[in-house]
Amino acid sequence: MSLHQFQHLIPYRHTALTSGTQEQAIDLPVGKVVCVGRNYMDHIEEMSSQVSVVPLLFMKPSTAIVDMREPVAIPSNQGECHNELEVALLIGEKLCKASIEQASAAVRGIGLGLDLTLRDEQQRLKQAGQPWERAKSFDASCPLSPFIIVDSLSQSAHFSFQLHVNQKLVQNGDTKLMLTSMLQLVAEISQYFTLLPGDVILTGTPKGVGPLQVGDQITAMLEGHINVTTRVISQ
Ligand code: ZN
Repeated sequence: MSLHQFQHLIPYRHTALTSGTQEQAIDLPVGKVVCVGRNYMDHIEEMSSQVSVVPLLFMKPSTAIVDMREPVAIPSNQGECHNELEVALLIGEKLCKASIEQASAAVRGIGLGLDLTLRDEQQRLKQAGQPWERAKSFDASCPLSPFIIVDSLSQSAHFSFQLHVNQKLVQNGDTKLMLTSMLQLVAEISQYFTLLPGDVILTGTPKGVGPLQVGDQITAMLEGHINVTTRVISQ
């Protein structure tokens, strides 16, 4: 079955984790994903990248979003496809040129996203001085977990998160180590791109990115809240 047939059979909806393992659909549309690059120093070092003076932003379209609990389908014959596990924020209210306080009140969910990245393609694009969309925004490049629902996101909230590939810990992050905090990011993004209910922010990856292989089993955890195990297939 092709990826497109597969997506047609199981359309993506934002999902909330309620008490225990219960879940329910979230009554928000599926919109754009705004992603943040170079937000953890250990990842900047592993990529030999420069620290950005202002947050590095890029986007994935709604067609990139799939449910992380379904098999993760990576492109074949396009070089390495890397894992980047990131904390995902689900936006519940329209935000345009928002303050930190408005950003705090507009966050409706906390979850996990994989910013799947065609690394060889990205290196080629970087060298050519071109945008990254071919490497970052392809179909199914943004598997999302279910979200835990919150009334707001406080300045002091932080989350630990881990990615295991074939039972081996490869990424171990904590949002308190971000160069730009979650709320600062939401407010900053809204100065340029109006955020709408149902949009998602991916807040950057810590170190431990690397090539996924067809057949890998991956487990993504938001410590104490979310635990998703899935496997890698070919698109
Ligand atoms: Zn990323």
